[in-house]
Amino acid sequence: MGKTLIFGHKNPDTDSITSSLVMANLEKKLGNDVEACRLGNINKETEYVLNYLGVEAPKFIEDAEDKTEVILVDTANPDELIPNIENVVIKKIVDHHKLSMKTSYPLYYRAEPVGCTETIMYKLYKENGVEIDKTIAGLMLSAIISDTLLFKSPTCTEEDVKVATELAKIAEIDVDTYGMDMLKAGTDLSSFTIEEILNIDAKKIDLKDKKSIIAQVNTASIDEVLTMKADLEAAMEKSIEENGLDLFMFVITDIVESTSKAIVLGNAAHIAEKAYNEKIVDNIIELKGVVSRKKQIVPIMTENA
Ligand code: MN
Ligand code: MN
Repeated sequence: MGKTLIFGHKNPDTDSITSSLVMANLEKKLGNDVEACRLGNINKETEYVLNYLGVEAPKFIEDAEDKTEVILVDTANPDELIPNIENVVIKKIVDHHKLSMKTSYPLYYRAEPVGCTETIMYKLYKENGVEIDKTIAGLMLSAIISDTLLFKSPTCTEEDVKVATELAKIAEIDVDTYGMDMLKAGTDLSSFTIEEILNIDAKKIDLKDKKSIIAQVNTASIDEVLTMKADLEAAMEKSIEENGLDLFMFVITDIVESTSKAIVLGNAAHIAEKAYNEKIVDNIIELKGVVSRKKQIVPIMTENA
C-alpha cells in the first residue's frame, strides 16, 4: 500500500486546502503514512494564507490509481472529486456538507453541521490528544474565517466562533485585521480570465431535474465585478450550451456589506425570481443579505425548481 492521499473538493477553497494539510499533520502524528493533496489551483485568498503562515501548498493531483486509500475533507460529493472516486478506498471523511455518496464498505465518517471543516478538525486534535501548534492554529483559523466570511455567514455557529477564538490565541493573530486582509486578498480578480473567474468557486448542482451551475465570487465592490458583465454573460452562455445546462447563476458577494447580486442565465432562470420574489432585470437579480450558497441559495432554489 502506498501513502494515503488526503484531499478536499475540486476548485479548492481555503477550507479544502488547509483541512488536507491539518488532517495530514494529525495522521502523521498518529503514525500514519499520508500525503496532503489538492484537486485544483490555489486561489488568491488561500495563497495569502499560505504565504502569511509560510506553509507550502499540498501536492496537485488529477486522479489516483484504483485501490489507492484516500481521506476526504470538506466534501462528501463524488461530483467534486477525482473521476475514479468509485474505485479508490475511502478510509475517512470529515465534512460539514450534506452526504452525497454511498460506499459498499464501512468507513470513518464524521460530519457536523458547523460552519467549517476545521472546527471539526480542532475537536479531532483534542480527542486524539495532539497538540495544535501555532501554524496549525493559523491554518484552521483561516479556514473558519473564510467559510463563515468572518462569522457573518448564517452557516456560522457558536461553536465556530468559540473554536476560532481559541485558535486566534494560539496563532497570535488579530482576527479582524487578518481576516479582512485575507478575504480582500481573495477578491483580487486582476490576473484571471473571464472563464477562470466563473470557475473560482463553481459548483455543479442539480436543482431537482434542472442541471445547474451556481458559481460565487467574493468582492469588495459588486459594481467593479459588473464592469465585466457582458463578457461574463457570453462565457456563461457558452457554458450553458456546452454543458447542456438549464441554469447558470453567478453570485457576486460583497464581503464588506454582506449582500449579493447574481447574474442569472438559462431556461430555468425564472426559478430565482420565484425563490427570492425579485424580478430579474437585465439578467441581474438582487439577493439582499445573501452570502451563503449552502444555506441561502441551494435549498431555496431547489424548493422552487
Ligand atoms: Mn469548501
Ligand atoms: Mn468548508
